[in-house]
Amino acid sequence: MEEQGSPIWIDGKLVDWADASVHFVSNSFQYGFGVFEGIRAYDGEQGTSIFRLDAHIDRLFKSAKIIGLDIPYTRETIVEACRETVAASGHSQCYLRPVAYIGYGGMGLNYTGCKVSVGIAVWFWGEYLGQGKLEQGTRVKTSSYTRHHINSNMSKAKACGNYMLFQMARTDALRGGYDEALLLDAEGHVAEGSVENVFIVRDGQLITPPLTYILDGITRDSIIQLARGAGLVVREEFFTRDAMYIADEAFFVGTGAEVTPVVALDDRPIGQGVPGPVTRRLQSLYFDAVRGRDERYAHWVTPVAGV
Ligand code: PMP
Repeated sequence: MEEQGSPIWIDGKLVDWADASVHFVSNSFQYGFGVFEGIRAYDGEQGTSIFRLDAHIDRLFKSAKIIGLDIPYTRETIVEACRETVAASGHSQCYLRPVAYIGYGGMGLNYTGCKVSVGIAVWFWGEYLGQGKLEQGTRVKTSSYTRHHINSNMSKAKACGNYMLFQMARTDALRGGYDEALLLDAEGHVAEGSVENVFIVRDGQLITPPLTYILDGITRDSIIQLARGAGLVVREEFFTRDAMYIADEAFFVGTGAEVTPVVALDDRPIGQGVPGPVTRRLQSLYFDAVRGRDERYAHWVTPVAGV
């Protein structure tokens, strides 16, 4: 994390990194009530471009609706603010973090009347699961924590408070010497990683859990479209952890993790224990798409130039 990063957009103004603080008496700080997004910008065919910006901002507003937070800006304002913040950072590739939150008050578990703020920070973020993992793959551990039940924390909202569970799961996995955690749903099916959706490959076909218990990941959607566009069969079906042990290949997808091979689960090698050919092919399709090199998916990238 940068000590002195680039300006942060807060409620219409670019504020110096060092001055972008939130009051101690903040409902979002104390109770985790807020929603956020994680987006990447890549140095692509049209210069620095943000990948699937509209889809991410759309999900931000949907997450807010789910938890009952009224964002006092239009989608267009937030889309333009993202472009402006990336442009002001001078980064050619970066990660964007928009957050909608209550910056002050709301101590009685009631934020009625409190101002809703939106901030957007930008920083450089390399390989989320660790340097070299896109190439070598990751070793993953099934978590002892269950992905939130769908009637407790809302699975379709990318809500701040949901990440306490994901952080505990991820920290446990890292302390155990693994690269990431795999969470099961309340019924015991494979759900998702702490910040990734998951796919397995069996007999050349892709299988990913249906959206029932999981976040509707934008990378998941991109991969489904890219795979089908390449003639691969993709099925949305529940599967169990032992089905993942005996899969031919497995991989995680997410804005941060991009397309990262999973080469072992619970110390059992998946397939040959190395990234497989279908995973490699999807990595290459994905990295072409994010950089605007694939005409068919050119509408997925928003150039930052001309803000
Ligand atoms: N699941 C969870 C719980 C996540 O936090 C993320 C990251 N946003 C994902 C899946 C992947 O979503 P996306 O591809 O939209 O980044």
